[in-house]
Amino acid sequence: MHEMSLVQSVVETIEQAAHTHHFRRVKTVWLEIGELSSVEPEAMVFCFDAVARNTIVDGAKLEIVSVPGEAWCPHCARTVPIEDLIAQCPDCGACPLDITDGRQMRIQELEVE
Ligand SMILES: [Zn+2]
Repeated sequence: MHEMSLVQSVVETIEQAAHTHHFRRVKTVWLEIGELSSVEPEAMVFCFDAVARNTIVDGAKLEIVSVPGEAWCPHCARTVPIEDLIAQCPDCGACPLDITDGRQMRIQELEVE
């Protein structure tokens, strides 16, 4: 399950931020997960509690913010919604498209004290 190592990198990032910004406890973590990222939100939440133990995020709540896939269609000259990485433009059928959103996994916000 690759989510375990992803959660570990999220926790490490937060610990570095805690060091830089001098906070001691994290209450809530909002994590953006793109719908094209092949990251399972449920697995992230499941791993989080185990990885968080005895770290700065021990007891924190993980909130998943799901980000839909989006791509730029040069033919239609606009952004279109897509559901997988090899999607065609839903309007004109152009393929491949430049994916502009939905592949990320990143910390959106932290509630700290
Ligand atoms: Zn198009």
